[in-house]
Amino acid sequence: MNTVVSGDFERVHGHAPEGLWAAPGRVNLIGEHTDYSDGFALPMALPQTAVLAARRRTDGLLRLHSAQGDGRVTELRVAELAPGVVPGWARYPAGVVWALRERGLPVGGADLHVDSTVPAGAGLSSSAALECVVAVAYEELYGLGLGRPELARVAQYAENHFAGVPCGVMDQMASLCCTGGSALHLDSRSLEVRQVPFDLAGHGLRLLVLDTRVKHDLADGAYAALRAGCERAARLLGLPALRDLAEAELPGALSRLPAELVPLVRHVVTENARVEQAVARLADGRPEALGPVLTEGHASLRDDYGVSCPETDLAVEAAVAAGALGARMTGGGFGGSVIALVRSDGAGAVSDAVTAAFTAAGFRTPAVLEALPSTGARRIG
Ligand code: ADP
Ligand code: MG
Repeated sequence: MNTVVSGDFERVHGHAPEGLWAAPGRVNLIGEHTDYSDGFALPMALPQTAVLAARRRTDGLLRLHSAQGDGRVTELRVAELAPGVVPGWARYPAGVVWALRERGLPVGGADLHVDSTVPAGAGLSSSAALECVVAVAYEELYGLGLGRPELARVAQYAENHFAGVPCGVMDQMASLCCTGGSALHLDSRSLEVRQVPFDLAGHGLRLLVLDTRVKHDLADGAYAALRAGCERAARLLGLPALRDLAEAELPGALSRLPAELVPLVRHVVTENARVEQAVARLADGRPEALGPVLTEGHASLRDDYGVSCPETDLAVEAAVAAGALGARMTGGGFGGSVIALVRSDGAGAVSDAVTAAFTAAGFRTPAVLEALPSTGARRIG
């Protein structure tokens, strides 16, 4: 891949890159829709990455090309970058450069070429992989010395304010801070992280990713509404964020909220507790005991948070019926991917059962990947 990406860069831009970087997509094991409530999550990086070849320019131009794009080079003036002016995929990488400049950092132009194996729009954070690979390349090329949590904030700021997607910080933290063989215990308020060893193979386990290959249209508007609902509930409870509500205080708090906010708050608070439960089970050396936590998390997203859909519900149901230890949707929802924790010898039966159930329901055939806890963003050449 590295020589291919370098060669493609040279063909597109007419000279060799200064370096190559990679940043992965992610699956989130548990802790969904908690990051924008300052809560906890437990993502892990995928082996699939966005690879970026880059070379600085001295004329203030940003020239962007993607192997997954339409073949054209998008040429922008760094000094003229502003929210709303860049359409399409280029708003993710251009947004990172804009966000760095918004911080007053002395970054200029570059020639960039990206080639990604993270499937786009599958809930596996191809957008964060793209932002983060640009962020680490810029940090090194322009000698910024920001560090990973700050780079994650920059990439999130780009996605929120330049690309116009109101995401939390979990995807970017996962892409930047994960290490191989571990899940990442993330505190979305402090951005403190802890690497939690997650040895699937050593316990005879595999983690399947079932990409439903659907993304329902209501995803973006619904996400913003949910985020606003959580912020309103926290205000009504007099808390900085829902993260500050303990599970023991939940019944009293729910009785003080309007009915429409009750299920949202119940999801966030119980989901934060499920992250702690999952981390404790991994620390005990019992990764198989994550299974029920995953399935409970899915029920909460389906019944309380309302972000699942017929495809993800069916994938979870069929996986568990076929012997998966647990399964849940991962990512923002309304389509995207489901993860299923399976015993190694039962993986084929689970993916066959989900495929058969999708065929019977008239859904598209799901794509099946395997999640292996992989390394976060890094220089590769
Ligand atoms: P997800 O992050 O779950 O994959 P998003 O909708 O957040 O889904 O991001 C997908 C978008 O990110 C794509 O529509 C495209 O604009 C952009 N993108 C991701 N990877 C690439 C790539 N390799 N080349 C061009 N655009 C990409
Ligand atoms: Mg995304």
